[in-house]
Amino acid sequence: MTNDMHLGIEETDSCHPSGVPMESAVCGQQELHNLLNVLRPYGTAQNPVGVRDIKQVDSSPAFTDQDTSLIIAGPCSVESEDQIISTAQALVQIPEVKMLRGGIWKPRTRPDAFEGRGEQGLVWLREAKHATGLPIATEVATPEHVELALKYEVDVLWIGARTVVNPFSVQQLADALNGVDIPVFIKNPVSPDLNLWLGAFERFLKAGLTQLAAIHRGFAYYKETPYRNFPMWEIPIELTQRLNVPLITDVSHICGNRELLQATAQKALDLATDGLMLECHINPDAALTDGKQQITPDELKLLLANLTFRSRQSGDVERDLAGLRGEIDDIDSELLQLLARRMEVSEQIGEYKKRNNVTVVQMDRWKKILADHIATGEEMGLSAVLINKVFDAVHQASIERQGRVMGNED
Ligand code: PEP
Ligand code: MN
Repeated sequence: MTNDMHLGIEETDSCHPSGVPMESAVCGQQELHNLLNVLRPYGTAQNPVGVRDIKQVDSSPAFTDQDTSLIIAGPCSVESEDQIISTAQALVQIPEVKMLRGGIWKPRTRPDAFEGRGEQGLVWLREAKHATGLPIATEVATPEHVELALKYEVDVLWIGARTVVNPFSVQQLADALNGVDIPVFIKNPVSPDLNLWLGAFERFLKAGLTQLAAIHRGFAYYKETPYRNFPMWEIPIELTQRLNVPLITDVSHICGNRELLQATAQKALDLATDGLMLECHINPDAALTDGKQQITPDELKLLLANLTFRSRQSGDVERDLAGLRGEIDDIDSELLQLLARRMEVSEQIGEYKKRNNVTVVQMDRWKKILADHIATGEEMGLSAVLINKVFDAVHQASIERQGRVMGNED
């Protein structure tokens, strides 16, 4: 197995027509090679290893440079030559940005929406690569996409969340890439299914791909959350415990809006992610896809400046703990939403009672509910004291809310 890659980056000074200092961009094959050292190799084409063995195969750190995170930025979609070139030229001036992303084929929920520029977009994306020296990454969903992406010198392929849910598609992509040693970043499937995600890694691994990384982009959730895709941090953490692959957090698709980006990016770094993917557009409000979550290069610069990058020296203990803390944060966030939802329902009951002349407090019903909760909670290992305290507080707040509803209507 070799780490050497022939990724077709031109080694010329023309990487910086914008006058950006040399050290601020990736330019040339050696730099790109260093950059992609983030990718922990595991297994070989001749001797692919099973998922369970991977962690034992190589426990080397994700980065050779202990304090660098791989920052991937660029628009959700490549829309026009001017859009991608001007975005890339602004991004290359941000030293932390090491790779340019751009969607060429866009999976859309409904027909007739903008579905990407296809091959024409690849021409422009390659132009952006040559103009800035930034390696380029795009999503591939079919073997035809793979063929075209390779033809237009795409450096890194990623597999989208909607594709990873379908083992047929993943296998087709793995077959199309058999024998091609290109980095492939695998997004989590839309559904919170760790095995499906692991299975996708296994398929690429068996096809001989050695440079794999995971992208966490959050999960579809059964109810509304402040996020577009609920992070469920524990799942990517578990993945990195099972598989020795770098983890990149796609903050934009987790958040779905600009407001949550900063805090979520920081949280990802605190959980010891190896990199961030952020959607960036020269004019986000005019973006053809995902406008609400995209930011300008200037805003990205500010966001990155306000992040605290953790040292990568910390061991597994720290990361495991961070995973558990992330899980606690998710649970607290769910508890808050459930409490708010409970209050809303309680208010609706208050309105009904008012209309039908029923008293607010029906003590018998409440006593029975509380006894049931205590019995159920004890079966789950919770103390009766805790259940009493929590539900008493919740019930009191509910009564007050209903009381206000009934009073207000007079
Ligand atoms: C994207 O990165 O633009 C995209 C479509 O992502 P996902 O597959 O995570 O939805
Ligand atoms: Mn997008």
